[in-house]
Amino acid sequence: MRTKLVAGNWKLNGSREANQRLVSGILASADAIASAEILLCPPFVYLSEIGARIADSTVMLGAQHVAIQEGGAFTGEVSAAMLKDVGCSHVIIGHSERRSLFGDTDEIVSARFRAADHQGLKQILCVGESLEERESGATMKVIERQVGTVLDTVGVQAFADAIIAYEPVWAIGTGLTATPGQAQEVHAHIRSIIAASDAKIAAGLRILYGGSVKGSNAPELFAMDDIDGGLIGGASLDADEFMSICRAAAGTI
Ligand code: PEP
Repeated sequence: MRTKLVAGNWKLNGSREANQRLVSGILASADAIASAEILLCPPFVYLSEIGARIADSTVMLGAQHVAIQEGGAFTGEVSAAMLKDVGCSHVIIGHSERRSLFGDTDEIVSARFRAADHQGLKQILCVGESLEERESGATMKVIERQVGTVLDTVGVQAFADAIIAYEPVWAIGTGLTATPGQAQEVHAHIRSIIAASDAKIAAGLRILYGGSVKGSNAPELFAMDDIDGGLIGGASLDADEFMSICRAAAGTI
């Protein structure tokens, strides 16, 4: 049985004041959720402050991105060791916005995944097809390429602690959600890709769904066999909405 995980990806949102309110709202009910894990991924600059706020709770801290390099003359970058140093346990890798807006290729995504691995950060590897790719029937091929490149680069053992998030690009921030059946089909395929290298790692691998998840659609998505939680964008900025997704993951609604 895989423990479900709900990860909030705040993207480029937040302020010290807004974060105070949001984290207070989350902490007010987080400890009552014993059977699911909760992860917050704020922008880099807020990691330390939020890490201190959640230190005595069950809520975990993650980053949205990581440098390939370990250190040196790479202005503006943040290394995996630095993320560890400020208390991160997880890092999102290869979000579709990084891929489409900032040039992260499958090879670059693989290098980020490896950099996180070297520091023992749990990666949340994002994969997903565009609308055009779905409509042309290329979804599974895209997923195979995105997962396969990382697998070939780092080896299956690196997936023992990692998480994969299936995020159809057409569903991110659009209000469109994959049906539970559509998501389940891709999740099962992702698990089979990993199983071809190691059945045990595949059986334990958590595969999150992301793409306009809300409190209202979370229960039916999380009821699917291979959906092990969610990566939540917009709804993670509203404590009530986010916690209702967490309760769905914990099976308490
Ligand atoms: C995301 O940012 O990864 C995401 C899934 O966003 P949203 O929930 O807003 O679609």
